[in-house]
Amino acid sequence: MQLEFFGGAGEVTGSCHILVVGGRRLLLDCGMIQGGAAPDERNRAPFPFDAAQVDAVVLSHAHIDHCGRLPLLRKRGFRGPVYTNPACRDLARILLADGAAMSERDAERVNRKREKAGDARRVEALYTLEDAMAAIQLMRVVRYGQAVEVLPGVELTFRDAGHILGSASVWLTLRENGVERRLVFSGDVGQYDSPILRDPETGPAADLVLMESTYGDRLHRSREATLEEFGGILRAARRDGGNVLIPAFAVGRTQEILYELAMHFEAWELGDWQVFLDSPMAIEASEVYWKHAELFDEDAQAWRARLRSLPPLPNLKLCRSPDESMAINRITNGAIVIAGSGMCTGGRIVHHLKHNLARPECDVVFSGFQAQGTLGRAIVDGRETVRIHGSPVKVAARVHTLGGFSAHGDQQDLLRWHAAIPGRPPVWLVHGESTAAEGLRDALRGQGVHAEVAVPGRTVDLAGVPPVTVQ
Ligand SMILES: [Zn+2]
Repeated sequence: MQLEFFGGAGEVTGSCHILVVGGRRLLLDCGMIQGGAAPDERNRAPFPFDAAQVDAVVLSHAHIDHCGRLPLLRKRGFRGPVYTNPACRDLARILLADGAAMSERDAERVNRKREKAGDARRVEALYTLEDAMAAIQLMRVVRYGQAVEVLPGVELTFRDAGHILGSASVWLTLRENGVERRLVFSGDVGQYDSPILRDPETGPAADLVLMESTYGDRLHRSREATLEEFGGILRAARRDGGNVLIPAFAVGRTQEILYELAMHFEAWELGDWQVFLDSPMAIEASEVYWKHAELFDEDAQAWRARLRSLPPLPNLKLCRSPDESMAINRITNGAIVIAGSGMCTGGRIVHHLKHNLARPECDVVFSGFQAQGTLGRAIVDGRETVRIHGSPVKVAARVHTLGGFSAHGDQQDLLRWHAAIPGRPPVWLVHGESTAAEGLRDALRGQGVHAEVAVPGRTVDLAGVPPVTVQ
C-alpha cells in the first residue's frame, strides 16, 4: 500500500499521484503541466510508469491541470476506467476538446516554421480531438456520496469540493493483507460562501490527507468588498460612457460573473447595458452549469427555479460565431464584454482590447490571477503601452483587479476544510508553489497537525502511517 508523488508536487499544475494497492495501480488525476520551464517537453516526457499497467484513474475535477494528460495516457496504452462526477465529465469534454485544438494548432505552427527553415523534423500534437474523445469514453460517473469499489481493496467516495461544478475531494478506503487505511485527496478546494456552488464538504475520519495549497499562504479579499467594487465600477462606467471588458476563464469564473450580474441586475443598473458572452467555450461551459442546477447551493437553486428562460440576463447575447464577435467592435459605448482568454494570451478578448484599451472612457476588469509574461499581467502591472498583434497600443482605459473571485480557497478556507475532518489527520501538501505550501504547512503545524510538503518521486508507505482514532 503505497503512495507516490509525481506531478503537482512542489508546483501548481500537472496534478498526478500514483497509488499502489494489492499490486494494482491507481492514478489520482492525470493533469497537464502549464507554465514554468519547457512545459510542452515535460508533458511529452514518458510517464514514470507504463500507461498500459495503470488499472484505473480517479479524476477530481475538469480543470486541464488535473485531466489534461488523460488523452495522452490513453494514447500510450491505458484502457482502464476513469472515475469522475457526471458534471466533471461534461466539462472535461469541453476542456479536453479545446486542449486538443490548441495542441494541434501549436504543432502546425512549429511544423510550418521548421518547413520554412528547411528542417525536415516534424512534431505531433500532444493529442488530437480523437484522443480526447477516446479518453472521455473511458469515464465512469459516480455521484457525490456514493461509495464504489473501483479496484479490489479500493473503495471510493466523492465529496463536493466547491471549487468548480462537479469538483470533488476523493475519500478512499484501502485494504491490503488485512490492513485498512483511509486516504483523502482534497483535489482543489473552493472558497466557503462562494456563489453558485455549495461549500466544500468533508467526510468521516481519515488517516492521511493529501491536500492542495495553491493559496496556502494568502487570504483573499472578502466577497462583499469585491462585489461592492464591481458594482461601483459598472455604475461609474455607465456614467462615463464607454465599454467594459472582462477577460474571463471559461469554466467557473465566467458563470460566477454572469450570476453576480443577474443577482445585482437592479442594484447595478444593468438594464441599459448590452452584455456579451463572447466565447464559444464559455458558452458551452455555462450551458453545462445551467443544466446541473442540482449541484447548486440553495440561493442559486432558488434563482435557477425563478428563471423563466436562459440565458439568465434579458440583455445577454451569446456570441458563437466570429461574425457576432466582430460586430461588437462597432459598439463604442454601453457594452459589457466577457471574453477569453482569462490572461489575454489569446482568444477574442485580445481583439476587444485592441479596440478599447486606448480609450480612457473604457474599463478593463480582471477577475483572476495574471501570470508573468502574459498580456493580462502587462496591463495589470500598469504598463503605459502594450503590444497587441505586433503593434503598440496605449493603455488609457481604467484597469481594475477584483480580488475575491478565486475558485480556490485561501489559507483560512483550507484550514477550515482540514479542521472539519475528524481526528485532525496528518497532511502531505501538494499543488502549491513552495512558499504557499510552506505557509500552509506552518499554519497547520501551529494547530498541532503533522504537515509535510510533498516532493516529486517521494513515496509514502501507507501501511506504516499510524491509523487515526477518533474519540
Ligand atoms: Zn482546479
